[in-house]
Amino acid sequence: MSTDARLSGLGSRWGAVPAGALPPPRAKVLAAKGALAEAVGGRVSFSDFDRLSYARDLWPLALLWIRQGKVPPPPDAIVWPGTEDEVARVVRVARDKRLALIPYGAGSGVCGGAWAIHGGVTLDLKRFDSIGPVDEARRCVDVGAGVMGETLERKLNFSGWTLGHFPSSIYCSSVGGWIAARSAGQLSSRYGKIEDMVLSLRAVLGTGEQLITPERPFSGPDLAPLLIGSEGTLCAFTGARLRVFPLPEGRVFHGFEFASVEEGLEAIRLVFREGLRPAVVRLYDPFDTAFVGKGGKARHAPVTPPSLRSAMERSFLPMMLRQVTKQTLGRPKVMNQLQRVFRKSRLILMFEGEAKRAEADDRAATMLCRKLGGDDLGEAPGRAWLARRYDVSYRMSRLIDAGTFADTMEIAAPWERVHEVYERVHAAASPYAFVLCHFSHAYADGCSLYFSFVGSGGDEQEIEQRYHQLWRAALAAAVSAGGNVSHHHGVGLLKAQALQDALGDGRHALAALKALFDPDGVMNPGKLGLSS
Ligand SMILES: Cc1cc2nc3c(=O)[nH]c(=O)nc-3n(C[C@H](O)[C@H](O)[C@H](O)COP(=O)(O)OP(=O)(O)OC[C@H]3O[C@@H](n4cnc5c(N)ncnc54)[C@H](O)[C@@H]3O)c2cc1C
Repeated sequence: MSTDARLSGLGSRWGAVPAGALPPPRAKVLAAKGALAEAVGGRVSFSDFDRLSYARDLWPLALLWIRQGKVPPPPDAIVWPGTEDEVARVVRVARDKRLALIPYGAGSGVCGGAWAIHGGVTLDLKRFDSIGPVDEARRCVDVGAGVMGETLERKLNFSGWTLGHFPSSIYCSSVGGWIAARSAGQLSSRYGKIEDMVLSLRAVLGTGEQLITPERPFSGPDLAPLLIGSEGTLCAFTGARLRVFPLPEGRVFHGFEFASVEEGLEAIRLVFREGLRPAVVRLYDPFDTAFVGKGGKARHAPVTPPSLRSAMERSFLPMMLRQVTKQTLGRPKVMNQLQRVFRKSRLILMFEGEAKRAEADDRAATMLCRKLGGDDLGEAPGRAWLARRYDVSYRMSRLIDAGTFADTMEIAAPWERVHEVYERVHAAASPYAFVLCHFSHAYADGCSLYFSFVGSGGDEQEIEQRYHQLWRAALAAAVSAGGNVSHHHGVGLLKAQALQDALGDGRHALAALKALFDPDGVMNPGKLGLSS
């Protein structure tokens, strides 16, 4: 099949990507073709089909562009190294010829971290796909950076272990991408975020040096935390030694309804202050509680009468999306005001681990929640959430197909700032989009706030303008209220300026680190606000 035919095939599937829309590869990258091929045993491509496939990650802005027939900036070439020596050789070619290098995991990032804004060479690390045996005594496993989340979890489960890391993107994200973007799974309150699971890292720095960080715990400075979260700007991860846990013996679910968000947040804070560690903590704000938080019928839960939420989901929401998205979502402030009629906030807790311990912790949390005025809803809401836990994230493209923009913003704040951050971000985003929020990934110090935004506009230009205004307003509100710019999606291009602003003088230290680990500025330039 010709390249053009394949491009039009892709275009018709995605909307309107015109054949031949890609700029030709840059001359300096074409000139390096031989050196790149030599570095990776011939596994290099300059084909338009591959360049188009690697031109984006899952940043919703790309979906807006694709709807308009615009192509995100493609890399000039893609290489598939399979050993650390090969990665090091590619880095040396990039330094020598001054080519941008963009490490690429599975492309599920939602902030444009893998976009080739300066062209250059995409370094796909999926060939680092080894999974070693579990070291049962030390409770760890050696894994290649290119291993996909679901593959790893299934393999571990066969021998009775779990990583405890369940991002909603587990089917389409890689170990290297998790480490690069500081990923968090749905059970992070018990198992920690990915940075808590890393015992040591294997990486090739922007200097071309190969690094294996010493295994924790050990004395002296630890380089791993400097590299984790660097989103391809300092190094390419090739593998990691990760902590594993025995599969849980038991699980206990419990739902509660609180009179307000504040009461629900206070209950979570006190649960953690008591030393309890639920694996899942999810508090839905009132509108999310009314329409989304109740979750559908659990596959194994007792049959309950159709709820308002399921009626909304089955009938109203699709109708709204088809018929009134443009008009209604074009006036989000009105819809956001309507939310004020809802007040109740739903909390889901799940404890897991040794069965007796999970039950005892659940009893303790239940006593506390009841004492704080929570209505006990039993186990059904939690089971319903578990049954559908990967569903909701994949609906975004349908919303975008319906002519809207949709995105999510996950940030975190210490307990004393969480409610203020919620109120301020909600108010700041309200003029631009319909806003929902839930609180999850709770810890002793604070928790994450996960906002969902859906908006629209008169035409594509206005939609994109509102999308950018929304993000600027929401991030500024988050930071000024005491929150951060990301809990687990990373920074990429989307939050680059906000990160630099939030770092204050710390940005000089980050720039110095960049100069040390990547002296020629070849590693993923432009991301995290680091141009070189
Ligand atoms: C539907 C959906 C649900 C999601 N849910 C979650 C969630 O629950 N939790 C969560 O944490 N995230 C979630 N995400 C975001 C995304 O899955 C994470 O950011 C993930 O960590 C990205 O992994 P990836 O392998 O796809 O990385 P990519 O998208 O390929 O890359 C992400 C960034 O990491 C860099 N990078 C990738 N691999 C390497 C490497 N080996 N070495 C150095 N740098 C590298 C890239 O250059 C880029 O900057 C979700 C995304 C989607 C689309």
